[in-house]
Amino acid sequence: MRIRERVKEILKQLPENVILLAATKGRTVEEINEAIESGINFIGENYVKEAEEKFLKIGKKVKWHMIGHLQTNKVKKAIEIFDIIETVDSFKLAKEIDKEAKKKNTIFPILIEINSGREPQKSGVLPENVENLIYEILKLENVKIEGLMTMGPFVENPEDIRPYFKLTKVLFEKFKNLKLPNLEMKYLSMGMTDTWKIAIEEGANIIRIGTGIFGPRK
Ligand SMILES: *Cc1c(COP(=O)(O)O)cnc(C)c1O
Repeated sequence: MRIRERVKEILKQLPENVILLAATKGRTVEEINEAIESGINFIGENYVKEAEEKFLKIGKKVKWHMIGHLQTNKVKKAIEIFDIIETVDSFKLAKEIDKEAKKKNTIFPILIEINSGREPQKSGVLPENVENLIYEILKLENVKIEGLMTMGPFVENPEDIRPYFKLTKVLFEKFKNLKLPNLEMKYLSMGMTDTWKIAIEEGANIIRIGTGIFGPRK
């Protein structure tokens, strides 16, 4: 199957409110353009440098999501390229985004990344620390939290990811229901090639798909 067929096949199964984001790390501009021509409007990159090279060729015809771990020294460049950073997991990082956004006189959208599997080697904030982090970030004037993102642990059986998505959805609803004036819980980003159907059942409205669009990574 080609990129075009894979994109169409996924798109036709999606509820209307769900965004299909193509995870494009390691993919060429040609591959990405084929995906865009097939109906992809959102792409996710993991590395600032790689994103920058592609951004020069692809430009703003799609929305750019940062989905990889972001170092503070890359923030300045990142907010020039990306429309949203999905992977904020520390106040330090949020503060840096706030600082650079202030210089540009903009309010920059972010998602909070949850380490739902509590894996020491993975990024994301632990579930019990999310509340503190959100309240700290709400004090910053030039970032706005628009939702949550999670990866979840690697599982052999896709069904085993469900509890981690459920946990993230519970947190999402909790903050949504607080109805804080400056906190708009709009996006819940979870689910990848093997797990996106489960993610949608559990309330995701952004799914991030790489292999399922472009084939196996080389
Ligand atoms: C690579 C990646 C994906 C997509 O993974 P696939 O299994 O290839 O669909 C989704 N989210 C993040 C953060 C990624 O790095």
